[in-house]
Amino acid sequence: MKWALIGASRIASGYVIDAIRAQSGHEIASVLSSDKQRAQEYAREHGIARSSTDLDEILSDPEIGAVYISTTNEKHHPQAMAAIAAGKHILCEKPLATSLDDAVEMVRAADVKGVVFATNHHLRNAGSHLAIRDLIASGRIGDVLSARVFHAVNLPEQLRGWRINDAAAGGGVIPDITVHDADTVRFHLGEDPVEVVAQSGVSGLGQGVEDSVMSVWTMPSGAMVQTHESFTHPYAGTGIEFHGTKGSIFARDVMTQRPVGDVWIVGPDGMQDIQFEDHNLYVRALGEFAKAAAGNGRPAADGVDGVKSLAVALAVREAADQGKAVRVDYGG
Ligand code: NDP
Repeated sequence: MKWALIGASRIASGYVIDAIRAQSGHEIASVLSSDKQRAQEYAREHGIARSSTDLDEILSDPEIGAVYISTTNEKHHPQAMAAIAAGKHILCEKPLATSLDDAVEMVRAADVKGVVFATNHHLRNAGSHLAIRDLIASGRIGDVLSARVFHAVNLPEQLRGWRINDAAAGGGVIPDITVHDADTVRFHLGEDPVEVVAQSGVSGLGQGVEDSVMSVWTMPSGAMVQTHESFTHPYAGTGIEFHGTKGSIFARDVMTQRPVGDVWIVGPDGMQDIQFEDHNLYVRALGEFAKAAAGNGRPAADGVDGVKSLAVALAVREAADQGKAVRVDYGG
C-alpha cells in the first residue's frame, strides 16, 4: 500500500517513516508540507519520491491508500475530513482534534466511508504495557483500587515550539501528554474515566499554555487514578503503578517511545520481575494498522480510542481552568 505523509514532522522522521517501511508491501509515495522548500528537502532527506503543498493534489492520487497525519493539532480535523472524503485509510496523531465535536465528526465520517481510522497512541503497543495489561486482566492483583501515572518529562529543546507557546495549534502538556495517559489507563483498566479534578500551572516553559498538570480521575469501578504530566522535569523519570486487593504492579521508564523500562509485581509471595517483549512500539502499531487496512482486525488504537483520550484531556483542562470537578463528556 502506498502512503502519503500529511505533515513534514519530527515524529514522522523520528519513528513513523521507518515503521511504515517495516511493513511488507508498504511504501511512502509523497509528503505534504505547508512550505514548498521544506517539502522538497524533507522528501529528499527521507527518500520520498514526491512532495507537495497541495493536499487535494496528494489525495486525488488513486494510488495512495493511506495517509499519516502528523501536522500540528489544529490541522488534524480538516486534513482528516478531506482524506476520509477521498477514501483513504487514516492514521492520525493525537490529540485527534482541538475539540471533541471535531474528533467525533472525523471518526463518524470514517465509519460511514468505510475507511480504517486509527489514533497513534503508541504506548499501548509497548511490550511493557501489554504485559501489565495481561497481569491485570488475569487477576494477578485482584480488584484494582488505584493507579498512579508519572509522566513528567523534560521537553527536548527541538520540540519547544508550538507545544509551549501556541494555544491555537493545540499546545500545552494536557493535549500533548495527558491524552496518552488517558489512553494508557483506559487500555489497562478497560473502563473510561467518569469524573476528574485537576490543577495545572506554568513551571518554566509554558507561554499562554500550561506546561504542568496533576489530576485525579474517578473510574466506574470506583478505582481512583492519579496522574502527573509536565514538560519541565529533567530528572523525574516516568512510570505507572496499579494497586489492587491482591498485589501491586510497578513499572518505571515505561511512559516513553522506546521499548525500555522495568516492570515488577509485589504480592503475598514477595516481589517478582516481569519480563516483556522489546519490539518497536511504532512498528507494532503500523503492523496492526496494515492488517486492519487489509481487512483483518482493528488498529491498536482506533478512532473511538482517540475520541475518548481527547475527552478525558479536555475534562482535565476544564477542571483545572475552573477549579471544580468535571464529568467527562464523551460526545454521546
Ligand atoms: P513538529 O513540530 O515536528 O511538526 C509539526 C509541523 O511543524 C509539521 O507538520 C511541519 O509543518 C512543521 N515543522 C516541522 N519541523 C519544522 C521545522 N524544522 N521548521 C519549521 N516547521 C517545521 O511536531 P511533532 O512531530 O512533534 O508533532 C506532530 C504531531 O504528532 C502532533 O499532533 C503531536 O501531538 C503528535 N506526536 C505524537 C507522538 C506519538 O508518539 N504518538 C510523538 C510526538 C508527536 P509542515 O508539515 O507544514 O511542513
